[in-house]
Amino acid sequence: MTNLQSYFQTNMLLLEVEVVVVGVGTLGIAISACLNKFNIKNVVLEKEDCCAYLWKKKTYDRLNLHLAKGFCSLPFMPHTTSTLKYLSKMSLFNT
Ligand SMILES: Cc1cc2nc3c(=O)[nH]c(=O)nc-3n(C[C@H](O)[C@H](O)[C@H](O)COP(=O)(O)OP(=O)(O)OC[C@H]3O[C@@H](n4cnc5c(N)ncnc54)[C@H](O)[C@@H]3O)c2cc1C
Repeated sequence: MTNLQSYFQTNMLLLEVEVVVVGVGTLGIAISACLNKFNIKNVVLEKEDCCAYLWKKKTYDRLNLHLAKGFCSLPFMPHTTSTLKYLSKMSLFNT
């Protein structure tokens, strides 16, 4: 039995999904948003206790994105004109 099967059995979950996305980093969030847009059922699994684990727990607080905001937006969530060009780590989680 795989870990995934075991997890669903233990937690008595019965989900019908077409796609399983592993990891809730920026990529997992982006992919899930796109799948939702096309009404493709998906479930996103994360091994840590939060989403965006790398950014939330493994980076220093004064970190800013290294790329300008135009290159760093999530699908369907463009940054506003009033957003700073280089977003701070903290502002990433408040948008
Ligand atoms: C200092 C720094 C500055 C950066 N600046 C920028 C920038 O300015 N602009 C930009 O676009 N990018 C930047 N990046 C890069 C960006 O952070 C990464 O490209 C991005 O986080 C990659 O996203 P990801 O979802 O692929 O991986 P990650 O963010 O690493 O997410 C992977 C997730 O999968 C989970 N996971 C792994 N294995 C499993 C498993 N077996 N089961 C369940 N969950 C699992 C992990 O816990 C994690 O939450 C920067 C990175 C760093 C370190």
